[in-house]
Amino acid sequence: MIISIASGKGGTGKTTVATNLAFAMGSGVQLLDCDVEEPNAHLFIRPVFEYTQTVTTPVPEIDMDKCTLCGKCGEICQFKAIVVVGETVLPFEELCHSCGGCMAVCPEKAITEKGREMGIIQKGHRNGIEFVHGKLRVGEAMSPPLIKEVLACADAQQVTIIDAPPGTSCPVIESMKPADFVLLVTEPTPFGLHDLKLAVGAVRILDIPCGLVINRSDLGDGKVKDYAAEVNLPILLEIPFDRKIAEAYARGASIVDVMPEWKARFLKLYEKIEGLVN
Ligand code: SF4
Ligand code: SF4
Repeated sequence: MIISIASGKGGTGKTTVATNLAFAMGSGVQLLDCDVEEPNAHLFIRPVFEYTQTVTTPVPEIDMDKCTLCGKCGEICQFKAIVVVGETVLPFEELCHSCGGCMAVCPEKAITEKGREMGIIQKGHRNGIEFVHGKLRVGEAMSPPLIKEVLACADAQQVTIIDAPPGTSCPVIESMKPADFVLLVTEPTPFGLHDLKLAVGAVRILDIPCGLVINRSDLGDGKVKDYAAEVNLPILLEIPFDRKIAEAYARGASIVDVMPEWKARFLKLYEKIEGLVN
């Protein structure tokens, strides 16, 4: 079972839900933090890291001794990531999507691949929870290749919880695609509702079953609930605004540790997800 936990906007409590669900389930669960631009689930899981791997993506390297400046590489590249300028060929690595097209069309075999560093992935454990996250290199714009590497660590023998990046752009879609279920986290505010609608639209296009967690559910208005009823989006858990929860978050502690009664609520959340998937 793969559960992707997502939200249309940041700061809704997505990581709180992901980490507490993992803590409540205990062993036999893995948490993949795919928010590679700003990973923070490790602050709550506090894993002992055992493995770090540098992730690279292939980009073209030109052998100008072989190149005849025919221009075919520039013609095929849809991303303007390689251009013939005067007497040379310039690759723009930051724009390259690593499709290999330029290498395939080069009649002189003047293009080979070299690795461009995207970031790192780290793996670790804590109390039976397997933890993996990616950290995008500072200044790197393309996160999906790194997210794919994190997702490749999903283990079919375990329950996999994915902490997706915020928003509804490519990195989020990448983090939702392998999921059996998408758990959306929102807050009952106009901004929360606006971004929830975008997130629901994305999940429905992917045709993945989904449900909702409302965080700080006793603040704001009832429009999120009205919307959920309108689009048939089941509300699976409500987390009220509670000073103890806020304090736990600020200390990097989990809700299930400081308020043990929440363990049963998160386990119930998993049961509901299982029921909806089956
Ligand atoms: S690998 Fe693809 S995206 Fe990159 S420069 Fe070549 S054609 Fe363009
Ligand atoms: S396709 Fe090959 S030979 Fe032609 S310009 Fe590009 S690198 Fe040079």
